[in-house]
Parts: sequence; C-alpha cells; structure tokens
Amino acid sequence: MTRVAFLGLGAIGRPMARHLAPPAFDLAVWNRTSSKSAAFAAEHGGVAAATPREAATGAAVVITCFPTSREVEEVVNGPDGLLGAMRPGTVLVDCTSGDPATSRRIAERLSAAGVAFLDAPVSGGVSGAERGKLTVMCGGDAATLEQVRPVLAAFGSNIVHCGAIGAGDALKSVNNAMLAVHIWSLAEGLATLTKAGVSSQVALDVINASSGRSNASQNLFPERVMTRAFPRTFRLALLDKDIGIAAGVARDHKVASPMLQLAAELFRTAHAELGEEADHVEAVKLVERWAGAEIA
Ligand code: NDP
Repeated sequence: MTRVAFLGLGAIGRPMARHLAPPAFDLAVWNRTSSKSAAFAAEHGGVAAATPREAATGAAVVITCFPTSREVEEVVNGPDGLLGAMRPGTVLVDCTSGDPATSRRIAERLSAAGVAFLDAPVSGGVSGAERGKLTVMCGGDAATLEQVRPVLAAFGSNIVHCGAIGAGDALKSVNNAMLAVHIWSLAEGLATLTKAGVSSQVALDVINASSGRSNASQNLFPERVMTRAFPRTFRLALLDKDIGIAAGVARDHKVASPMLQLAAELFRTAHAELGEEADHVEAVKLVERWAGAEIA
C-alpha cells in the first residue's frame, strides 16, 4: 500500500486527510498541536507522527496544508523537517494556498535532493473537503501530477494542471480575490439598499435572478449573513493573505490593478479590525458598521 504523509490538520486539512486514511492508503499524519493528530489517528486510523521528519520517512507522497508558504518552508527546512526524510523520487504536494515565489524557492531546494514539488491549492471549502469534491489547482511538472493523481483523487474531483510551479498558487489567489470582491461589493450594495428601504431578501431574490449574482449572493449571504449565523469555516486572516498574494502577483507582472489593490487594503483592514479567528464572511460586519446599517 502506498505510504502517504499528511501534515497540517486544520479546518480543511483534517477533512482532506480523512479520505487518505486506511484502507485507502498507509497514512501518517503530523500536526503542530499533537493532540489533534493523536485524536485523528484514534478516530480514523493511520499513525500520528511526532515530527514532520518521522511522518515523511518512507512516504512516497507528502502533503502539506498550512496557513501560508512560510510554514511550509519552515517544515521543509527545519531541524526535524522534510528535507532530512524525503528520498529521491518522492513528491511533496503542497495544498496550502501559497505564494508562487516561495513555492518556486521550495521546489528548487527539494529538486537538489531529487524530490519533486507541486503547488496544489484547493477550492470547495470545508464541505467540499468532507465530500471529497475539491478542485485541486496544480503547478509543476505534468508527469509528476500524473504520478500523484490517485492520491489527490481521494479528496479532489476536479484535478487541474495549471502550468509551471507557482501557477496553482497564482490561480487560487486570483479566484479568492474574486470571492473577496464579491463579498465586499455585495455587502456595500445590500447596506445601501437597506438604507434606501429595500429588504435584503427581496434584493437577493432579484440579484440571484439577474446579472449581479455570484456564489456570495447565491450561497454565502443567504446561509451566513441573512441568518446572522456567520459560521467559522475559513478564516478572514487567510482570505486577507490570499488577496494580498493576488495583488502582489499583479504588481510583479506590472498589471494595472486598482481594484485588486483596493480590495487587498480593505481586507487587510477588516482582518486588523475583526481579528485572527473571524470568518471571511464576517468582513460584512465592517461594511455594516461603516454604513450604520445591518443587512437583514
Ligand atoms: P487553519 O488555520 O484551520 O489550520 C492551519 C493548520 O496549520 C493547523 O493544522 C495548524 O496547526 C497548522 N499550523 C499553523 N502554523 C503552523 C506552524 N508555524 N508550523 C506548523 N503548523 C502550523 O487553516 P485552514 O485549514 O483553514 O487552511 C489551510 C490552508 O488551506 C490555507 O492556506 C487556506 O488558505 C487554505 N484553504 C482553506 C479553506 C477553508 O475553507 N478553510 C478552503 C480552501 C483553501 P495547529 O493545529 O497546531 O494550530
């Protein structure tokens, strides 16, 4: 049975890793807070490793899912890190929504040790991860992707080769920048309509039958804003990071991008105002505060 290691059992990593548990694969997991990896192994099987190095020892494929590329780089290079354990011919698949420049640096470092790298961020949210229906956006060598495709297929139903290393990260960041723009602009629009005497439910019904609709208007606002439930599934801090990456990629390529740069600034402000644990949809609360109107 193929040995797979999964590192980073956070909000999305944990439901992804569940699909890799025995009998699907010979799975080792590692998490910084070791009680979470112990609980995972007790519930789903597999081995809870004490260090990244221990998890990766003997693994054909190692998957990482951390907040940013910074933590991935630390775990690759650290004293108990992956470089000391991964053998030539093995593959590191990074499912972090990372940044292209750091991914290229990590890939170069691993390549010197004969280890292949794919940046492979995912979309579909926690519910998509639970259902094994994520989209996986891969950057790197196409033949390497084919080598690991059966592993990624455990949690991904749409596995796409996007280009060279960093291409998956770039595409993911732009997708999430669109998500951020839709959330913010819809919040401004509905706050305006509330003050103009139009109920948000009527507004959403019309928008969802018209050209302004988006995932935000069709799903996020009805399920999370109108109900005032604001469940915490994807941290605002991470969306701030993603749109910052997209704005940086646009600047690097000298693309005039006032919309992306402004959205990045707005989400940086929302993150600072609402804190590390707020969900991404809670950015709406800042728009409401500035407008002096609650969307309802
Ligand atoms: P969480 O914040 O829920 O989890 C982060 C994970 O990384 C935890 O396992 C945490 O360990 C670990 N971690 C944090 N810092 C370090 C560190 N310095 N060293 C080692 N491990 C560390 O994040 P998510 O699971 O939500 O997101 C992970 C990635 O997936 C992000 O890049 C995010 O943008 C992306 N993503 C998330 C989605 C979602 O819906 N949540 C959807 C699509 C992509 P510990 O348990 O010890 O804190």
